[in-house]
Amino acid sequence: MKRPAVFLDRDNTLNIDPGYLSDPDALELFADVPEGLARLKKCGLLLLVLSNQSGIGRGYYTAADARAVNAKINAILPREAAIDAFYFCPHTPEEGCSCRKPAPGLLEQACRDFDVDLNRSFMVGDKESDVLLGRQAGLKTLLLNREGLKRETEADKEVSSFSEAVEWILSRFPSEDNS
Ligand SMILES: [Mg+2]
Ligand SMILES: [Zn+2]
Repeated sequence: MKRPAVFLDRDNTLNIDPGYLSDPDALELFADVPEGLARLKKCGLLLLVLSNQSGIGRGYYTAADARAVNAKINAILPREAAIDAFYFCPHTPEEGCSCRKPAPGLLEQACRDFDVDLNRSFMVGDKESDVLLGRQAGLKTLLLNREGLKRETEADKEVSSFSEAVEWILSRFPSEDNS
C-alpha cells in the first residue's frame, strides 16, 4: 500500500549545521525535532532524509563518516521517532550528478525503496534547492527559515521552527485524501 512521506533535509533542518559535519560526537539535533518526528511518524508518515554531502566529493570526509552521523541521529532519537532511511549525494556541484538536490536522484531512489504516495507527501528543508526538488516531484513544500530573514521562496509554506513545520503538515494530513 502506498504511504505518504515527509522528505527531510538533514543539516540545519534536523541538526545544527557547523559546516561539513563529519563527527558523530558533534551532532546536535534541534530541540523540537525528536517530538516532531514522533508526531509525524505516529500519523503513518514515512521519514526519509535526503542530504547533499559534497564534503565527501571535496575530500573533507568519507561516505562512512556521513553514515556514522546518520546512524548517530537514529541512536539519539527514540524508536518512535526513528528515520526510516537516509539518502545522500556525495558529489560536488561541478560533477553534475543526477542526485545533488534539486536533482531528483535521491528522491527517486527513496521511491524505489518505499512505496511512496507522492501526492500526499511533503518536503522540509532550509534551502531553496530543497523546495525546488519538492515542487518538481509534486510535494507540498516547506521552507524552514529559522533566521527569519526575508527570503525569496516558492515554498507552499515558510516556517520558523521544525515544530511549526510539523503543525502545518499535520493540519493538512490526512484531510488531503479528499481533495
Ligand atoms: Mg540544509
Ligand atoms: Zn550526486
